[in-house]
Amino acid sequence: MTDYSTLEVPGPTITDLTAPFWEAVSEGRLIIQRCGSCGEAVFYPRALCPHCWADALKWEDASGHGRLKSFSEIWKPGHPGWLPVAPYCVGLVDLAEGPTMLSHIIPADRPVKIGAELVFAPTHAGGRVLPFFKISDQARSST
Ligand SMILES: [Zn+2]
Repeated sequence: MTDYSTLEVPGPTITDLTAPFWEAVSEGRLIIQRCGSCGEAVFYPRALCPHCWADALKWEDASGHGRLKSFSEIWKPGHPGWLPVAPYCVGLVDLAEGPTMLSHIIPADRPVKIGAELVFAPTHAGGRVLPFFKISDQARSST
């Protein structure tokens, strides 16, 4: 199993808007915003709903489930701190609630495929917890 905890990588830029998201991730939870006007789920964190422009976004717990929409295997990281775990997989996760989230996909014991069921896997990396995803164990046992 890959050890991310000793990586020396830059952290996220945390703003007043994104602080609730990063605080939840540090507690092992995934939260997204939902619009109190149109009801759409929203990610990444925003001040206004991108669907109806209402100023009515509230945080809520996400299910932590999603499907892999697309991915890339990274052999030459943008920051040298990621070299110890290269090659690694970064993918677009279609969250069960609707929005898409870019995330690190934890290596599986089989090839990563588009459409794979994913589950939220908060991971200690570079002195913080990052919102990674991994291939669902349920999906593994069913194939
Ligand atoms: Zn809205």
